[in-house]
This record gives sequence, structure tokens and C-alpha cells, in this order.
Amino acid sequence: RNLKMKTLCRRDINSLKDPFLAVFESLIPADEEKIKQKQLLSRLEKLVTQEWPEARLHLYGSCDNSFGFSNSDIDISLAMENRDIDKGKLLLKLVDILKSKNFQNVKALPYARIPVLKFVDPVTGISCDICINNALAVVNTKLLRDYAQIDARLRQLVFIVKHWAKSRRVNETYQGTLSSYAYVLMCINFLQQRRPAILPCLQRMETTYSKSVGNVECSYFDQVEKLRNFGVKNGESIAQLVWGFFHYWAYCHDFENDVISVRTGATFSKSSKGWNTRVGNDCHFISIEDPFEVSHDLGRVVDKNSIRVLREEFERAAEIMQNDSSPFVTLFENY
Ligand code: ATP
Ligand code: MG
Repeated sequence: RNLKMKTLCRRDINSLKDPFLAVFESLIPADEEKIKQKQLLSRLEKLVTQEWPEARLHLYGSCDNSFGFSNSDIDISLAMENRDIDKGKLLLKLVDILKSKNFQNVKALPYARIPVLKFVDPVTGISCDICINNALAVVNTKLLRDYAQIDARLRQLVFIVKHWAKSRRVNETYQGTLSSYAYVLMCINFLQQRRPAILPCLQRMETTYSKSVGNVECSYFDQVEKLRNFGVKNGESIAQLVWGFFHYWAYCHDFENDVISVRTGATFSKSSKGWNTRVGNDCHFISIEDPFEVSHDLGRVVDKNSIRVLREEFERAAEIMQNDSSPFVTLFENY
């Protein structure tokens, strides 16, 4: 029965290509939104450099990795040369500056794991997060953006997957489900493992870009304009890939034993990282290796309950992609 369904799905799956592309296009931010973000960034940079002349602002996260929806927040890293700076104090000073310029809902979380300042710009209505010297996030943002330039299907797949994850409420790290960053890595790793491959493994190629952040060495091949034809031997459409993505995480990935790794373009055994045993609160129900900070498992937020929710959602989505002739309502149905 399964085989028959699979054949059926294969036969008519490409009729879903255009509707999936329409979903993707409806989520892309307009150019004017990008312009507003840049203008806000330079306004903020002016304010900041009046107080700290050597400071610079860098965008990171979805506003800069090409996987941002329209109306999404912007993430900013404030780069200070003095690395021993008291981040908490600096953020509190910045709170005063922003309040004096009428920025709204200004709130600092100076004692969070990554200290952050949140506010809304009164001119554009854009919500912003600022953190200090988050250079690793700036570099992994570049890696994601570089992967997106190799094959258009990555950006399409990520948008569909993020839209699904937000609708189904499995994109909430404080509830034990996965960050957008983790979903992007899952999409990249999935496309690296298609046969023929749709994406290469940039960290296994010749180094053309290299940056040390603390004791982490970040290097990879970043001349992605040379790789524009990389995936052409694989003709799968976005519809086939969405089907394949959910099928893969529902039925093919070995959650118990394997680590998802963009760095190697593959999966490998958890035991090689000691992630097969529980240490403290870290259970590794799903393991996603950070491409640069390799001791960091992005799945560490997932607990016994949320792994069940997550896997049920993958199965639900796989089932819908297998059986629904028009999956667009059910797949993205609000939870
Ligand atoms: P969204 O559109 O949902 O806001 P986003 O791409 O901004 O998506 P977030 O998960 O909010 O995704 O993360 C913002 C950025 O912070 C990521 O692009 C990544 O650079 C960095 N980041 C987030 N979580 C981690 C993490 N656990 N470890 C390292 N870097 C992270
Ligand atoms: Mg964000």
C-alpha cells in the first residue's frame, strides 16, 4: 500500500510546484522593507558612534541571511574593539540613549546567556534586538547567505519549512522546539544529502574565507558565484523537496544515534561527540551540530516531551504531503 501511495505521490507531485512557489513568493519581503532596515541601521549607527566612536553595527539573523519573511524583526550585533567590556553596563547605557530618542518598548535583558536589548523603532515600526560582539552569529549568517546563493531551491524550501514551523508552533525554543537557525541547517543538510546533491559542503572545500572568533576558527569556500550550476544534475522541484524533507525527518533520520552536520555535509554517530549519554540537562533527543562552534548542539533545547511533539509534526506533515491532493491548508493549519 505504501509503495502504491508513493508512486501516486510521485506522479502528481509536480502539480504542486506552482502553488508552493506562490506560498514562497507571498512570504518574501519587499525591496522597500530592506531599504527601511538599512536606513534604520545607519540611524542607529550614528547614535551609537556618538557615544562610542569605535563601535560598529552588523546585521545578522534572518534580516541578513536571505531567509527572512516580510515584517520580521531585525537582529543587530554591536561590535566593540574592547572585548573585556561589561556588556550589562553597556546595554543599560544604550537603553538611556534609545529612550532619549523616543524609541519604544526599550527593554534590556543584561543577564541573559547572550545579553540583549529589545526595542521598537517609532519611525518604521520595526522591532530590533541588539547584542554585543556576537561575531559568531555574524559569521554563521554569512555562511547561510552563501549557501542560499548556490541553489534557489534552498531559499524556497526554508521559507516553506519556516512557515510550517511557525504555523504549527514548533519554532519556539523556550517551549523546547527548534530555532529558525536550526531549521535552516536541517534544510541545508537535507539538500547536501540528496543524490545527485543539490548543495555542496562548503567547509570541506578549499578555504577562501577565514575568520577567528575567540578560539573558534571559521573557514570555508565562499566563492559561491562559481557554484551556481552545482545542483543542476538534480531536477527535483520544490514540491518534491518539501515532500522529501518531511518524509526524511519523519521516517528516515535516526534521531537516537545520528548528528545532523552541515560542516561535514552528512550525519555521523552521536557517540563520536559523547552526545549519546545524558550529561546534566543535556539529553540530545535531536542533535544538530553548529557548523563552527562544533561542541554546540542546537537540539539541546529539545526535551522528552517536545521531541515527541516535533516528531509527530514531521509525521503529520509527511502524511499530508503523501495523501492530500491540495495540502496547502492542512500543512500550514494554525496549531
Ligand atoms: P526568524 O525569522 O525566525 O527571526 P532568524 O534567522 O533570525 O529567524 P533566529 O533563530 O532568531 O533566526 O536566530 C538569529 C541568528 O542568531 C541566527 O541566524 C544565527 O546567526 C544566530 N543563532 C541563533 N541561535 C543560535 C544558536 N543556538 N547558536 C548560534 N547561533 C545562533
Ligand atoms: Mg530573528
